[in-house]
Amino acid sequence: MSIGFDLRCRECGKSYGYQPLSICDECFSPLEVVFDKELARGRFTRESIAAGPLNMWRYKALLPVPEDFIPQTPTGLTPLMRAPRLGARIGANNLFIKNDAVCLPTLSFKDRVVGVALDNVEKFGFDTVGCSSTGNLANAVAAQAARQGLKTFILVPADLEPAKILNTQVYGATLVRIDGNYDHVNRLCSQIADRYNWGFVNVNLRPYYAEGSKTFGFEIAEQLGWRLPDSVVCPMAGGSLITKIRKAFKELVALGVVEDKPVKFFGAQATGCSPISQAVKKGSDVIEPQRPNTIARSLAIGNPADGPYASRAIRDSGGWAEDVSDIEIVSAIQELAETEGVFTETAGGVTTAVTARLYAHGRIHPDELTVTCITGNGLKTTDALNGAYEQHAAIRPRLTDFEAYVDEINALRQIHASSEYAFINEAPSFTLANTGANS
Ligand SMILES: *Cc1c(COP(=O)(O)O)cnc(C)c1O
Ligand SMILES: [Zn+2]
Repeated sequence: MSIGFDLRCRECGKSYGYQPLSICDECFSPLEVVFDKELARGRFTRESIAAGPLNMWRYKALLPVPEDFIPQTPTGLTPLMRAPRLGARIGANNLFIKNDAVCLPTLSFKDRVVGVALDNVEKFGFDTVGCSSTGNLANAVAAQAARQGLKTFILVPADLEPAKILNTQVYGATLVRIDGNYDHVNRLCSQIADRYNWGFVNVNLRPYYAEGSKTFGFEIAEQLGWRLPDSVVCPMAGGSLITKIRKAFKELVALGVVEDKPVKFFGAQATGCSPISQAVKKGSDVIEPQRPNTIARSLAIGNPADGPYASRAIRDSGGWAEDVSDIEIVSAIQELAETEGVFTETAGGVTTAVTARLYAHGRIHPDELTVTCITGNGLKTTDALNGAYEQHAAIRPRLTDFEAYVDEINALRQIHASSEYAFINEAPSFTLANTGANS
């Protein structure tokens, strides 16, 4: 560990070295990976990064992985895209999408955290790994464990989306469905990790897992030409990603890789599970646990482990948090796809709808350079769009039939234009432009 990685208690500062542990045994606060900034200086420069591979392992020097480890999976370095058409719709002149809907290997940002956590497994002597998951983490652990030849136990709430269940089992992982919500699943996983000597990426390996999220922030800065944005809008489940993007920016500043400047952090949740956004709105770091009830299952953590830190980070930065209804989430998924050609899952619907509202409420100025974080792929939550589009009867493969079909469509459009009723296939007839008026 060349730059002196150490596991430290976030509250009392007790040092634990390099081991699989996530809670301080003195004060029961979470542990966090830190490193020696002086040792890191000079080993992590714009030039050294540019010489690295075209994936998140270009930032390996700042990630807690064994020094002799050779990356096997090309995770990360996903597109940072300008979003002018979405921007025009919501009043944003300088909007970017960081698109982890196409992160490899399993199409969500969770591939980043699993990459770092599992690369420590051999060092820690685990032959079996697992996680508690709201879906995407299950997919990421199953895929990367398969590649490393590890045995895998994955615990999920029983009501998970079918695509996320299939996307776990296909890799040969043992999937255990639990009759309960994520918070029940997570508690059980802590007991299992104690009872068996297994590596659970978001339990005893959590500090290493969390560091993987920093690569999302490193990439944003590099892809903006080594500068920081004015604002970041980020979905929140456990509240880890948003705090780690901020940590990534601070590390780049401390290492002299980017210039310091204020960056506002905005958190996004679904109203049906919004413990962190409620705390932010009350000006508090105290999280009141909720019982989740939303289609945004990947964000449905009622008692978020990093909730207090997320709330504090948002408020310290001068940002804000918002939460949106399930109808707004579906509408935002459609609007992002229609304007920018990006099909995101429900979590991305949350982020997009919240971004629209932040502009509508004047929390973000139209000219600010804003990055909105799209963290997962729409093909995993197609059930959210069930009934949204009607399929017409198949026509015969003849030009005359096609012409008749086009005439019919045009006639329907005219009726639609003169009618006050929306088509069923446009339900919910709700657009981002009016999300602001709705809260
Ligand atoms: C897990 C997850 C998040 C949130 O992550 P936290 O670090 O727990 O806040 C956001 N988006 C998607 C798609 C996720 O799977
Ligand atoms: Zn402590």
